[in-house]
Amino acid sequence: MHYEAAEGLARESLRKLQTERLRRTITTCLRSSFYGSRLGALGLGPDDFSSPDDIEKLPFTTKDDLRGNYPYGFLCQPMDQYVRLHASSGTTGTPTAIFYTQSDIDSWAGLVARCMYAVGLRKGDVFQNMSGYGLFTGGLGIHYGSERLGCLTVPAGAGNSKRQLKLLRDFHVAGIHIIPSYALHFASFLKNEGVDPRSLDWRIALIGAEPHTEEVRQRIQDLLGIKAYNSYGLTEMNGPGVAFECEEQAGMHLWEDAYIAEIIDSETGEHVAEGQVGELVMTTLCRDGMPLLRYRTRDLTRFIPGMCACGRTHVRIDRITGRADDMLIIKGCNIYPMQIEQALMSVPEVAQNYVIELFKEGEMDQLRVKVEIKDEYFVEDMRALTALQKKIAGRLRDEILVTPRVELVQHDSIPKGEGKAVRVVDLRGKE
Ligand code: ADP
Ligand code: ZN
Repeated sequence: MHYEAAEGLARESLRKLQTERLRRTITTCLRSSFYGSRLGALGLGPDDFSSPDDIEKLPFTTKDDLRGNYPYGFLCQPMDQYVRLHASSGTTGTPTAIFYTQSDIDSWAGLVARCMYAVGLRKGDVFQNMSGYGLFTGGLGIHYGSERLGCLTVPAGAGNSKRQLKLLRDFHVAGIHIIPSYALHFASFLKNEGVDPRSLDWRIALIGAEPHTEEVRQRIQDLLGIKAYNSYGLTEMNGPGVAFECEEQAGMHLWEDAYIAEIIDSETGEHVAEGQVGELVMTTLCRDGMPLLRYRTRDLTRFIPGMCACGRTHVRIDRITGRADDMLIIKGCNIYPMQIEQALMSVPEVAQNYVIELFKEGEMDQLRVKVEIKDEYFVEDMRALTALQKKIAGRLRDEILVTPRVELVQHDSIPKGEGKAVRVVDLRGKE
């Protein structure tokens, strides 16, 4: 078999396993002050759950619940059982902290190792983790998974492209973990250094932690000469290792022996119809320290109907189209940043980076897109540039139904930090 037995379980057996683990999780949750009082008030205990569908008896848990009970309100074990904490990147506000027992760390490492195996990495491969370490789960989370798989693990951290390249060469690295925006930046770096990416031994990149389009994946694959696989996770659900593409690159398997996933309409809280996009809601099934029940991720995706050609039976989710809170409303149109990325990346003259600015003109909210242009198209001929500007604005209008201002800027001129890319800057009231 090409994967663990648990990955190919028949659906009925998988549901049985989920039920067993859900009951155990409920028992554990009753020990925390937050769920103890919430479940107590509803009179719910493990015996009320005889199938995974019974999960709908439970109310949702939100980021505000986590913030409101920060830091210890969700802990289910005595303090001396915890060995690690992580905090979310705080992309959308105050961070939340997640605490792990040794057994949580072990099961998380197992999930990450499973994901890495699924994309073709093996014991004996050298693996370079090019994402930030520290409170961000993309560092230690992937690191422990890589060691668990048996890879020689290079904890390079983010940034310092020169050193990254040296490590890649010196140790014949086969696989990397990198956030997509840094992968594109690293491609420009290699080009500037005159390095042919196909001269390196690398084969595989795990890319994730931030929303990106299929067009960006294709660019990363072309520019770096490797296969890039989408990796989804969030701190509240451990970190990376929640859902991952297999070699088919046809959606991300969400590991249902470790999580119960639901997709809801954010407004009504009801399940969406099969295959429809909505908000992903998740329940942990293998966590002792800080289990979460029906956690609203705010991430938008859909279940991909049908089975995957790889034989794994776990459900697949589609590429995350954005966070529910990312939606911009301009002139009455609902716009997600990923729609803008998709339109931009379909224009061959466009280089790797862009930023979306919101500003006010009189009483109206307006959109400005600053986009980097490849060097060969950044010419002095005003007519050529104006035509390009119009072409990009037209593509954007077709996608988002609003014509934004388009500002062409030079390749590599938009500042790029080491962490997640900041795609939307709100200048309303500041200009
Ligand atoms: P923060 O919410 O502060 O960014 P995390 O570091 O926990 O904190 O990041 C988790 C979030 O990152 C997810 O909820 C999701 O919005 C985003 N994310 C993670 N992986 C992916 C991915 N593969 N595609 C799109 N978005 C992703
Ligand atoms: Zn598959």
